[in-house]
Amino acid sequence: MEKKDHNQILRGFHARQSRQLVAIAMALFLVLLSAVLYKRPGVLGDFSKGALFGAQIVAIAAFLAFTSLNWRCPACNKNLGTDINRRVCKKCGTRLR
Ligand SMILES: [Zn+2]
Repeated sequence: MEKKDHNQILRGFHARQSRQLVAIAMALFLVLLSAVLYKRPGVLGDFSKGALFGAQIVAIAAFLAFTSLNWRCPACNKNLGTDINRRVCKKCGTRLR
């Protein structure tokens, strides 16, 4: 019974880690894209610099909101901090990998 629960935790962590990596890639892409558009206005049409700055803020805020919901320990639901390859939850000590 306990072994099965731990497998669920491992699977849960793996799913969260995958989602987190996708979110990091998307956030980086959006921030880089708006930085490129900021330097070269007119590449994809007429963006105002204010709108690009706003888009960057929205992308970063969305990423942080997603992270705070997703990047949690599957066992104790506490935030896992900045290490994407965390092996053990530092709050409850559950092995995550
Ligand atoms: Zn935990």
